[in-house]
Amino acid sequence: MVPKTAIVIGGGIAGCSTAYALAQRGIQVTLLERNANIASETSGNPLAMLYPRLSGNDTSSQFALAGYLHSLALFKSLDLSPADFDACGMLQLGFNARELARIQKVAAQNHPSSVLKQVTKAEASALASIKIEHDALYFPNAAWVKPQQLCKRLTEHKSISMLTSNNVGRLLKNDHAFEVYDHKNIIAKADIVIIANANNAQQLYPDLPLNTQAVRGQVSLLKSIETSRQLKTIVCSDGYLSPAALQQNANHCHCLGATFSGTAATTNKQNDLQIDNEDHRANLDKLNNISPLLRDQLQNNIVGGRVSLRCTTADYWPLVGQLLDPVTLKAKPPRPSAATNSLPWIAGLYMNVAHGSKGFTSAPLCAELLAGLICNDTLPISTELAGLLNPNRFLLRKMGLKRLAKMTTALS
Ligand SMILES: Cc1cc2nc3c(=O)[nH]c(=O)nc-3n(C[C@H](O)[C@H](O)[C@H](O)COP(=O)(O)OP(=O)(O)OC[C@H]3O[C@@H](n4cnc5c(N)ncnc54)[C@H](O)[C@@H]3O)c2cc1C
Repeated sequence: MVPKTAIVIGGGIAGCSTAYALAQRGIQVTLLERNANIASETSGNPLAMLYPRLSGNDTSSQFALAGYLHSLALFKSLDLSPADFDACGMLQLGFNARELARIQKVAAQNHPSSVLKQVTKAEASALASIKIEHDALYFPNAAWVKPQQLCKRLTEHKSISMLTSNNVGRLLKNDHAFEVYDHKNIIAKADIVIIANANNAQQLYPDLPLNTQAVRGQVSLLKSIETSRQLKTIVCSDGYLSPAALQQNANHCHCLGATFSGTAATTNKQNDLQIDNEDHRANLDKLNNISPLLRDQLQNNIVGGRVSLRCTTADYWPLVGQLLDPVTLKAKPPRPSAATNSLPWIAGLYMNVAHGSKGFTSAPLCAELLAGLICNDTLPISTELAGLLNPNRFLLRKMGLKRLAKMTTALS
């Protein structure tokens, strides 16, 4: 039976796109966010780039491409202003032997030229309007988007009510509904709950090992100059440089990103969120692989930056789908050959977290997948791909149930 009401916990791109996908199917959604504004944690970067990183026809490339095409179509349908969303295209540079081999392999796969094509350095320079020194893979529809405007637009739906400044502390399921509480009082009640609060998901569902890690990242904002303002496309090496699409005070700025902390950060160390000059330098090194000239011209133009924490898993796949009751599962372990529908699924409890470095391409597709599972609709990806996202997989693997770890409830 299709639920009438839903609570989504977390107002980043995962929560906002999940709320939108459910609302589009007529479900009344309450979106709960602990900050005063949505998109103010990891989804609060000034710009997000929308592009897939492909390596061949493996499952992760299939997922990346499906997510990219879904997000592009969704964001285009939202009628965002050109100041908030621009499908300006992207060049992925063959800046070293490994990257060149990768782009040649991807280009040889006969993707439509509306999706991608290989270009020479001369063609790349003409597309970017700056000098490019490497052959490249060109994605003509790749885009940048302003995440706060995007999340705002997704949630301006008549079936979504937003409750900000609400820090969810626990969930309770009774016979008829889920109740969601802060540290003391009930905040909301609904037929189903979707946990979309990234690095804090484990606290809400402590018995199921999610194996998530918070990984710090920093972007740098560079004040543009006349030559850099010519840049028409996003250009990507081991980092990315956006066109000068950001207005900061009187300046037009580029967004240059992004660092990865070598070690896992924790969500409660405030220092993790402080801008670090070493990280600005690391971003300038990435700019050197994009354009040594721009690096020289812009190296003293850093006017700001932003730090946030990605939520990643050990196998780099997000955690998306219906949740199992881990206590019952451990008390009565199923046989490895058990049918998926014999497992102790919790009716109405779902998750959409751990989007790592690519949440703007993966989370909206995962939101659509969840809405498909919840409403018994056609799924937007194959059940094989959906199974790789099983949010219970780390526990099932630990119990030696490898086959079940790769399945979705849709196979029941
Ligand atoms: C430096 C950097 C650059 C990046 N660049 C890109 C890019 O160019 N393109 C791209 O696609 N991705 C990029 N990413 C990754 C992308 O930002 C993330 O994948 C995405 O924002 C994750 O979204 P989310 O909704 O899962 O998490 P979040 O945005 O963190 O949202 C989770 C929300 O849950 C809320 N919350 C937490 N606990 C509770 C609670 N108990 N109760 C209520 N609310 C709660 C939080 O306040 C937060 O708003 C980048 C990441 C970093 C760090």
